Amino acid sequence: MGRLILIVLLVLLALWLLRRALAAGRSKRPPGTDGAGGAAAPELVSCAHCGVNLPRTEARSAGGRHYCSEEHWRLGPRQQ
Ligand SMILES: [Zn+2]
Repeated sequence: MGRLILIVLLVLLALWLLRRALAAGRSKRPPGTDGAGGAAAPELVSCAHCGVNLPRTEARSAGGRHYCSEEHWRLGPRQQ
C-alpha cells in the first residue's frame, strides 16, 4: 500500500512541475519570437496605402512595405 501512495505522490509532483514549466515558458517568452508560438498572437502590419492593420501572413510585401490587398500593392504607398 505504501508503494501506491508513493506513485500517486510522484505523479502529482510531475504534473505540478510540468504545469509550472509551461506557465514559466509562456510568461517569459514574448509571442512571435520562436516562430512556433506565433499563431496565438499574429504580428500585425499596417497597409502602406490605406493604413489598415492585418496579420503579416495575410499581407502582401514589397520593398519593406506591406499592403492589405493586391490592388493596394499595385497602387503602392499613398502619396500625401
Ligand atoms: Zn490597403
